[in-house]
Amino acid sequence: MITELYDLFTQTPALIAPHIGVAIHHTVSDPEAETEDEERAFLHAVDDYHRNVRGWTTIGIGYHALVFPSGRGYLVGKPNTQRAHIADRNHLYYGIAFVGDFSNSSPTAAAIRAGQKISEMVGLQVLGGHRDFPDQNTACPGNWNYMSPPGPGLLEPMSPSMSASDLALIARKLLPGLPDYARPNNVDVEPLPKDGDAKRWTVTIR
Ligand SMILES: [Zn+2]
Repeated sequence: MITELYDLFTQTPALIAPHIGVAIHHTVSDPEAETEDEERAFLHAVDDYHRNVRGWTTIGIGYHALVFPSGRGYLVGKPNTQRAHIADRNHLYYGIAFVGDFSNSSPTAAAIRAGQKISEMVGLQVLGGHRDFPDQNTACPGNWNYMSPPGPGLLEPMSPSMSASDLALIARKLLPGLPDYARPNNVDVEPLPKDGDAKRWTVTIR
């Protein structure tokens, strides 16, 4: 079940250009929440942490959506608004966080289904995990198969019909609409070199 909680958390103004995809995260901290009440309490704890420890006072909870092992997912930031989950690229990506530490384990199948459902609801494909994007110094979202089966997998990384040049065109098309502070000088779209999987792409902005 996916629950919309936009009213309970700070919303930022809509971006001029829509997000181009989803970035996946894990929260690391694990409340071991079992009930909906415990899950909601954790959302507020993350909001408090991001606001008061991280200093994102005008945004609060940095992700757009969080999913729990129960399979319940919560939408806390409206689509196509900027939050704080991926350095220098928040204007480009919608952020979904899997609650828990997945350095050495995987989210439950129910959580993964919830993540898929949210991606479908917002009409965006998963383009990578946090660490897959340029200049992100992090191990997030841990070591699990967030991009591909076996197992429940997450989403098809990209539509097979979408080539790097297609994505480049999309990115360039969006550029004129970006706010000045976010408008890069140039955009390259290249396959991630990481594991040679040509289906995984990154948008490099320089
Ligand atoms: Zn992350």
